[in-house]
Amino acid sequence: MKKKILIITTGGTISMKAGADGVVPSLTGSEIIKLIPGIETIAELSLYEFSNIPSPMMTPQKMFELSGIVTSKIENFDGVVITHGTDTIEETSYMLFLTLQTKKPVIFTAAMRSNEETGLDGPRNLYNAIRVAASEKSYDRGVMLAVNDEIFSVREVYKSSTSQTNAFDAPHYGVLGLIDVDDIIYYRKSEFRYKFKVDRIEPDVDLIKLCAGMSRKFIDHSIRSGVKGIVIEAFGRGNVTPDMKNGIVEAIRQGIPVVITSRVPNGRVLGIYGYDGGAKQLEENGAIMGYDLNSEKARLKLIVLLGLNKSMDEIRDIFKEDRG
Ligand code: ASP
Repeated sequence: MKKKILIITTGGTISMKAGADGVVPSLTGSEIIKLIPGIETIAELSLYEFSNIPSPMMTPQKMFELSGIVTSKIENFDGVVITHGTDTIEETSYMLFLTLQTKKPVIFTAAMRSNEETGLDGPRNLYNAIRVAASEKSYDRGVMLAVNDEIFSVREVYKSSTSQTNAFDAPHYGVLGLIDVDDIIYYRKSEFRYKFKVDRIEPDVDLIKLCAGMSRKFIDHSIRSGVKGIVIEAFGRGNVTPDMKNGIVEAIRQGIPVVITSRVPNGRVLGIYGYDGGAKQLEENGAIMGYDLNSEKARLKLIVLLGLNKSMDEIRDIFKEDRG
């Protein structure tokens, strides 16, 4: 029997076309499905048009709303495919990874080429994502991204090219599997599987990136604005400038959880360096290590944990459990 798959469209280049004003949203959900002739033979499809926005317009609140839509509809389907812009697909998919309770396949997909270009990746990616969602093998593997004939865990993947069709990579981890013409082939399961039961989120979490010689002015601004949490994208192993360290200490003194991530794509942050601004000092002053989570995902995790009213110590423990 054919699997029942719900396609949820949110926008992104997969729904865009170039016009006089540049590349903009233009195709409806049913128009992008029509770009894949014969898809009805693979699965019984239903469509839900959530939005048609460029993904830089996606917000944590909209991501959380999307998670709620999947939760309310998944019971009637074998799997869900979500089309999304590549710019923030990492974040939306990770929000769903954190908050969905289902073990059914929820597969994100996207396109790098807009619909007037030669050699479209969108229809192929959508076709493949439907095949992945309809496969028995995809059950209980967490939320995944199917692009460029590859399958990634959304916990592990990041956008690695601004323009090429092989735009995603998962440093340290690699792909979960391949999408070949005859079959879906899995090589491994991701170790990460978080499921938080969440009624609300706390989106007021800032992200500040370090550069050489950086002062504490941005973190001071965040503190003054009454922010509920801060992610600091630090240097290397999680180190910051002495002035930024003072700002971080002040934020923690005021009860604001501060999560440290790295601006380096590979490896983990850890309290090794003990000099002024070193991550060891930050840890000793109560900063929370984000380990190998990238900054955007660490921010979403903090947004979810703050929504659950977790204390600073509980947040620290949950980030620690997630070591990769
Ligand atoms: N700017 C587009 C978006 O994220 C890029 C894409 O979809 O690939 O909406």
